[in-house]
Amino acid sequence: MTTPVDPTPYAVDVRGVHKSFGSLEVLRGVDLKVRKGEVTVILGPSGSGKSTLLRTLNHLEKVDRGTVRIDGELVGYRRRGNKLHEMRERDILRQRSRIGFVFQSFNLFPHLTVLENVIEAPISAQRRDRAEVETLARELLDRVGVGDKIHDYPKQLSGGQQQRVAIARALALRPAVILFDEPTSALDPELVGEVLEVIRDLARDGATLVIVTHEIGFAREVAHTVVFMDGGVVVEQGPPAQVLDRPTQERTRAFLSKVL
Ligand code: ADP
Ligand code: MG
Repeated sequence: MTTPVDPTPYAVDVRGVHKSFGSLEVLRGVDLKVRKGEVTVILGPSGSGKSTLLRTLNHLEKVDRGTVRIDGELVGYRRRGNKLHEMRERDILRQRSRIGFVFQSFNLFPHLTVLENVIEAPISAQRRDRAEVETLARELLDRVGVGDKIHDYPKQLSGGQQQRVAIARALALRPAVILFDEPTSALDPELVGEVLEVIRDLARDGATLVIVTHEIGFAREVAHTVVFMDGGVVVEQGPPAQVLDRPTQERTRAFLSKVL
């Protein structure tokens, strides 16, 4: 008899992940499961390992121990017999292109126009048809409200507009999941709302999102699951009403009392 394949793998499935930088153990056995179509918000104090965890999801950081699966596929490694071998660079890039990543600092290519920023990876890493990608890119840029800026360069845009382009760029990959690392932390306060509105729209539309943010009100509104991390472990997780309003762990309570 063959082993049945799980027909509905998790979008993200992290098991027992450890990661050290030198003698500093930053992730100390993290488990995280995200269902397709669900929004997970990760909260936690600075230095708790949130960014490192996101970076392991697309092999920007290699894990020391444990496994990461995206859409059922092992990230960064192939199994041969019962041994894991690191993938070839080409396969890593292909795999990485199935994950959208939106950074705090936008990270658009400064020498490319808005449209070029969005079409670059689908054409070069995913080898998709230019005309198809360009049509999609225009639709996505309209959707995030910068359809009139497609021939501008990033530095001509406000921070909020740049971040919305970064979101369109992530969407153009047709990703299994989009990761957001403090997407509004670098924005002037008056520009935060327009970026949160775009993310809210994706959430309503059933996208699979993992969002690191300190916007607790936003977490309460969009998250299916809130994960609280501290010291490289998941301290507590559950629906927002549970974790935010009735946390069971003292560390969660202490953190929330500082940020709320
Ligand atoms: P968070 O995003 O929760 O603030 P990070 O994952 O960025 O936390 O960092 C966790 C810890 O790991 C911090 O102490 C940070 O200084 C350290 N760290 C992160 N990346 C590196 C790196 N490339 N080299 C050395 N230390 C790092
Ligand atoms: Mg961080």
